[in-house]
Amino acid sequence: MKHILTIFLAIILVIGLGYAFNSTSPGENLQLSYIQDISFEIPFDANSNSENPKSRKSGFHLYPEFSAEIYNPFITDKPTVSISDGEHSPVALMYHAVNEVPQTSLDGLFLRPSEFEDQLKVLNDLGYSYCFADEFQHSDTPSVILTFDDGYTDNYTEMFPILKKYNAKATIFVFTAAIDGEGYLTREQIQEMSESGLVRFASHSHNHNNLTPMSEEDIRYEFEHSKQILAELTGHETNAISYPTGKTSDIVIQIAQDYFHFGYTTVNSTYTGDCNPLLIPRVRIYRGMTGKGLAARLG
Ligand SMILES: [Zn+2]
Repeated sequence: MKHILTIFLAIILVIGLGYAFNSTSPGENLQLSYIQDISFEIPFDANSNSENPKSRKSGFHLYPEFSAEIYNPFITDKPTVSISDGEHSPVALMYHAVNEVPQTSLDGLFLRPSEFEDQLKVLNDLGYSYCFADEFQHSDTPSVILTFDDGYTDNYTEMFPILKKYNAKATIFVFTAAIDGEGYLTREQIQEMSESGLVRFASHSHNHNNLTPMSEEDIRYEFEHSKQILAELTGHETNAISYPTGKTSDIVIQIAQDYFHFGYTTVNSTYTGDCNPLLIPRVRIYRGMTGKGLAARLG
């Protein structure tokens, strides 16, 4: 009997030791590394009070990937341009190039001159007025903001003559490093269009790089330098920007407030309510879009 009891106690001891080893090895290590991974995501949470600078840095680097959703102008809690009953919000339209023959593989960006003319005819018929990107304000009548990104040569050779014919206004967002470069507007073309009173020039940064991974100093350089060059060329200090590559982040928007009143995104939308003036969405215009097509898009 004593012998049996000894064997029984030995079995209990072996089982007990087994549990003890299991609880401190693989399972617990796995749990620990999982918690470490989660902690890197904490900076995404707006309610996080994390004081760990390492965590904040890691969050900052990943944050821009979600910018399109986070900075949707409809859900932002930042300052807004309000709209009252009976007022219309201007609708910003996003163009790039106007050319019969696409100059790059991105065909969709090259609206045909006949399509642009057709669009202006329809906008006139529907009673739309035009305003510049840096004078965004609600009005009693419907209005559009024609915006052209990048500053291609055809904005002068193809778009400008049609603009004059219909006495319409447009804003060209130029990335200033490209001025006088092959395929881009020259200083003289920019000055001539600016003096016509029908075209204003606004910032698209200096180098057209994604601003979101940049240091604060570099972002400020991109904003300040492009503003300076445009002011020297046109005598007009712009307060509008279209973010290059369309990417924005909390940091970029915060810094933009020091240089601009109005920021234009690539979020493909119109709006009817309040709008964050630094996150204005635009209706994308693409090759093949007629005046009728545009009217349908504007509702
Ligand atoms: Zn661009």
